[in-house]
Amino acid sequence: MHRNVIILGSGCAGSTAAIYAARANLKPLVLEGREPGGQLTLTTEVENYPGFENGIQGPELVEIMKRQAQHFGGEYKAETAIAVDLRKRPFSIRTDEGEYLAKALIVATGASARTLGLESEKKLLGRGVSTCATCDGAFFRGKEVVVVGGGDTALEEAIFLTRFASRVILVHRRDLLRATKILVDRAAKNPKIEFLWNSMVADIRDAEKNEVTGVVLRNVKDGSETLRRIDGVFVAIGHDPNTKVFEGQLEMDKGYITLREGSKTSVDGVFAAGDVHDFVYRQAVTAAGSGCRAAIDAERFLEAEESG
Ligand code: NAP
Repeated sequence: MHRNVIILGSGCAGSTAAIYAARANLKPLVLEGREPGGQLTLTTEVENYPGFENGIQGPELVEIMKRQAQHFGGEYKAETAIAVDLRKRPFSIRTDEGEYLAKALIVATGASARTLGLESEKKLLGRGVSTCATCDGAFFRGKEVVVVGGGDTALEEAIFLTRFASRVILVHRRDLLRATKILVDRAAKNPKIEFLWNSMVADIRDAEKNEVTGVVLRNVKDGSETLRRIDGVFVAIGHDPNTKVFEGQLEMDKGYITLREGSKTSVDGVFAAGDVHDFVYRQAVTAAGSGCRAAIDAERFLEAEESG
């Protein structure tokens, strides 16, 4: 149970860290976590990951990364860390199955996009419902889309989507945006953006057809509902970094792990990669890059320790 490197999370960041650590002969153990493969498993076509000129399906991309890590000796277990002790080394990681000890730890537990909690949303995620405009916006050329939310992310996504979509309807549950003024002004000036206040998406049609054909909009003031024809729904109501088990042990900023000098966290020997620390870029390729960085930093840390 005593390992050189344990990697928590099996998205782009975790698996890239595993590829690098495995090739450095560190025999990493990857505890896959609650969402094996991470956020890419919730999407369909990925067109902006370098190396795939015709695009690739998200789930396939993370599966290839996992096989690549396994090919070099990376070991994957379908377990989730439920408690960690980072106060002394080796670090202790407890899962439902038992306890693991690690000389170095790479945290790549990601962030989960908040969702509306609708059954139809779940079924259509990656099929017209998206949590990432940068990833999926280009699929909506000439189409009408809804963006849900009233924060910076929602406004940024709405503005970005006007490059492709013919119309963007921003649906917000209040009549006041929490986004910064500069983004609000920019969105207000954009003729393609329409604001729908005091409203929420009560249902997304049509889960049976496996495509988005419309949304049921509910006015939160009077409860009235209208059906609007639409081609896509972007849910931009925030993200939650998966950092609960590290609370009180790793330094964080608004729940995201704080890094210094590359991928180092506030605890020597613990490194972080991917969306668990990055609330700005949140892309598969940036997550993969930071996974590489964390593995190299972990390798150098262990090497320095061994040589004395
Ligand atoms: P956020 O600021 O938490 O905003 C979330 C928005 O979604 C709020 O308007 C909220 O409504 C709404 N919302 C939450 N749950 C909802 C639900 N169940 N149904 C409908 N609407 C819901 O999240 P964010 O926009 O992702 O931003 C996160 C942080 O990153 C912020 O600190 C932000 O400033 C920062 N950020 C900065 C930039 C930038 O500077 N360019 C870009 C992106 C993000 P209420 O307003 O009613 O609560």
